Amino acid sequence: MMSFLAKNYNRKKIAFSKGKGSFLISVDGKKYLDFVQGIAVNSLGHSHPKLIRSLNNQSKKIWHVSNAFIIPEGEKLAKKIVKKTFADFVMFQNSGTEATEAAIKVARRYFYSIGKPNKNRILCIKNSFHGRTIAAIYASGSKKMTEGFGPKVKGFDHFEYGDHSSLKKLLNKNTAAVMIETIMGEGGIKVIPDWCLKELRKLCDKKKILLILDEVQCGIGRSGDFFAFEKSKVKPDIVPIAKGIGGGFPLGAVLMNKRVASSMIAGTHGSTFGGNPLAMQIGNTVFDIISKKSFLNNVKTNSKYFLTQLNEIKNKYPNIIKEVRGRGFLIGLQLHKDQTNFIKKLMDNKLLTIRAAENVVRILPPLNVKKSEINLALRIINKVCSTY
Ligand SMILES: *Cc1c(COP(=O)(O)O)cnc(C)c1O
Repeated sequence: MMSFLAKNYNRKKIAFSKGKGSFLISVDGKKYLDFVQGIAVNSLGHSHPKLIRSLNNQSKKIWHVSNAFIIPEGEKLAKKIVKKTFADFVMFQNSGTEATEAAIKVARRYFYSIGKPNKNRILCIKNSFHGRTIAAIYASGSKKMTEGFGPKVKGFDHFEYGDHSSLKKLLNKNTAAVMIETIMGEGGIKVIPDWCLKELRKLCDKKKILLILDEVQCGIGRSGDFFAFEKSKVKPDIVPIAKGIGGGFPLGAVLMNKRVASSMIAGTHGSTFGGNPLAMQIGNTVFDIISKKSFLNNVKTNSKYFLTQLNEIKNKYPNIIKEVRGRGFLIGLQLHKDQTNFIKKLMDNKLLTIRAAENVVRILPPLNVKKSEINLALRIINKVCSTY
């Protein structure tokens, strides 16, 4: 079939016509267990009845008005987020990369506003992922993502994951912020240990540097806590979110504390679509469900079970699976070799997963996945291992 879409994706030769909960139905009528969920976006699975109702109701009232006016649905969601998290203020965007870029703007603008405009460099992990806009690809420090898109956007420094001496060396008087993913998603499901986050917070405080934790993928319940950094008790200054908060509807935001928010005066940043009533209404519905303690406890219990069982499969097939990585429902099976064929075999057996760096098979169930669906996935993974 001739396609008139640009060729910037390597798409699987499959299309879907319908989704329900953890499952997708292909156009030729086959049923797949969807453990991709739009890459951690459909946090409540497909066609959640409360989200359908929320979207339908709002669609009959008002879709879009512009940030020139007060948007009550956005006021409501921001208030809930502030009540529940470290944040004092929220700035809504439409996507993850917009949220990470806005986070960088907030950090720089803060130092500008206190008379330190040269304190503007952002220190990131090499081969991390902060999105695909021009600045975000240079923040990620990946050769592959930046190739051909020069000139290089200045202002970013990089250290290798785990290289603490290089991290300390690169922090200098011109560093405005350290920006890292609390759990690296695209980079291979690498969890930043709690003690690292604590030490990093101390280091940032000592050097008067801001801490930006990118929770676009690992946030909104994905880790079992509302934010992945909560377990460490660390308080970041700025947190970009997106993916899971819209439950499938495009929505992003930057959360920030009072101190840095004080610099974002009228006119410093804006978005035409960001925070529109339709997105806000859906965001409210997603937030109400996921922020409940009982919901998050359920994510913790079920994901622990899943991870334990996956480790048993790893122990049974140590020559195929090198490591089970992740926390909550942000899971990676690191294979010894390239994972392409393994992902294909899982798909042949009606389980959808997606790749991440370092030979990782990324597994992202909806947060409300049923135990029977986890067991189905385990059976398929076991079967593929046994014939691999
Ligand atoms: C997906 C992702 C982004 C980019 O989000 P988009 O909505 O694709 O722009 C940024 N940071 C992290 C950690 C992500 O996983």
